[in-house]
Amino acid sequence: MRKPKIVVLGAGYGGLMTVTRLQKQLSHDEADIVLINKNDYHYETTWLHEASAGTLHHDKVRYDISDVINRSKVDFVQATVEDIKTEEKKVITSAGEVEFDYLVIALGAVSETFGIQGLHEHAFMIANINSARQIREHIEYQFATYKNEEEKKDERLTIIVGGAGFTGIEFLGELGNRVPELCKEYDVDPKKVRIVCVEAAPMILPGFDPELVKYARAKLEKKGIEFSIGTPLKEAKADSVIISKGEEEVEEIKAGTIVWAAGVRGNPVIEKSGIENMRARVKVEKDLRAPGHDNIFVIGDSSLMINEEINRPYPPTAQIAMQQGEVCAKNIISLLKGNEELATFTPDIKGTVCSLGEDDAIGLVYGKKLMGSKASFMKKVVDNRALHMIGGTSLVFKKGKFKFF
Ligand SMILES: Cc1cc2nc3c(=O)[nH]c(=O)nc-3n(C[C@H](O)[C@H](O)[C@H](O)COP(=O)(O)OP(=O)(O)OC[C@H]3O[C@@H](n4cnc5c(N)ncnc54)[C@H](O)[C@@H]3O)c2cc1C
Repeated sequence: MRKPKIVVLGAGYGGLMTVTRLQKQLSHDEADIVLINKNDYHYETTWLHEASAGTLHHDKVRYDISDVINRSKVDFVQATVEDIKTEEKKVITSAGEVEFDYLVIALGAVSETFGIQGLHEHAFMIANINSARQIREHIEYQFATYKNEEEKKDERLTIIVGGAGFTGIEFLGELGNRVPELCKEYDVDPKKVRIVCVEAAPMILPGFDPELVKYARAKLEKKGIEFSIGTPLKEAKADSVIISKGEEEVEEIKAGTIVWAAGVRGNPVIEKSGIENMRARVKVEKDLRAPGHDNIFVIGDSSLMINEEINRPYPPTAQIAMQQGEVCAKNIISLLKGNEELATFTPDIKGTVCSLGEDDAIGLVYGKKLMGSKASFMKKVVDNRALHMIGGTSLVFKKGKFKFF
């Protein structure tokens, strides 16, 4: 008899969590499991700000997918997903077509530029290993070029970070540690370097506890980071950004590096597939299925769930993606067993920790406020936990963070 075929798209937090749970709970003769991902490695998206600043080598941020999947149960296909034909139950990839009975879409997100002119052309985005490597190399190139040019262009050493949300602040924390190292390495006067965070909202880290936000801003300012708050970025050019400082007033800041870290939207494949979506994210049913599609699950940043307490979407996080992966695997197994009663998903938010560099952080964990080394310790615990949940103790020993203090 033909076995049902489960196809999982994306080997990020959500996709790998689903696959590792399926491979544990299903025997060889119960289903065929196929995992499709662009690369043969998984990267820790939540560590990309470190690789981008150059405080952590990009190889520390990734691991081989073959390290965590059981190749006797899971068929891994390295390919780019191009489209999903829901009616025909098949996925179109760069390596050919793949049919499915059950599909899990876990393709993550892409940067949202909100139509701001010039961002696609002139700004870097913290998106994956390749972009992180490019940001790190570009910043180093600017330092090296500055030292080598006859007529010094100080603006070469200005770094603009667009966005003071979670990603922007974590990146700024790393830059605050990395820039003094670069100054030493390239014999550059630290006074020549500017790091400017441009944010449209009236505050940094909107939604975070005000006391923690105050701590974070003070610590970053102490590292020399400037904040331009309530000043939307209007345009990015090859060597500057234009920011709005009021109804009529604009300011141009010359810069050698522009990094955009202000929001995400779902994967474009979702828009192309015709599955109902909002900015490429699927507002899923409580059992994580796409509306109107009994055999298609959508999880992680590709999905959208409303927090009914505040009537706003839950933020896209690795924490939620991993929890969804567990429930998704459980629900697929239920369907395979002919059980139509599926589990409903409710995020169990244990807390949030935002790093301010390797040695500092702020966080709210189980309702308790943390700052400084305690929060930083907790951040590493969270990072190691994610590794453990997908790859067990051996992966923690291989890739974990152990420099706690
Ligand atoms: C710098 C930074 C810091 C963050 N910090 C935190 C944090 O501290 N805590 C937290 O909970 N969240 C954090 N987040 C958010 C978190 O990383 C995301 O919510 C999480 O990665 C979503 O998981 P996912 O499985 O949906 O997607 P991802 O983990 O991004 O995985 C998507 C996978 O799909 C693959 N893929 C994409 N498109 C295709 C395609 N067309 N074909 C084939 N494969 C494809 C990608 O290569 C990737 O492997 C952070 C994000 C960033 C950028």
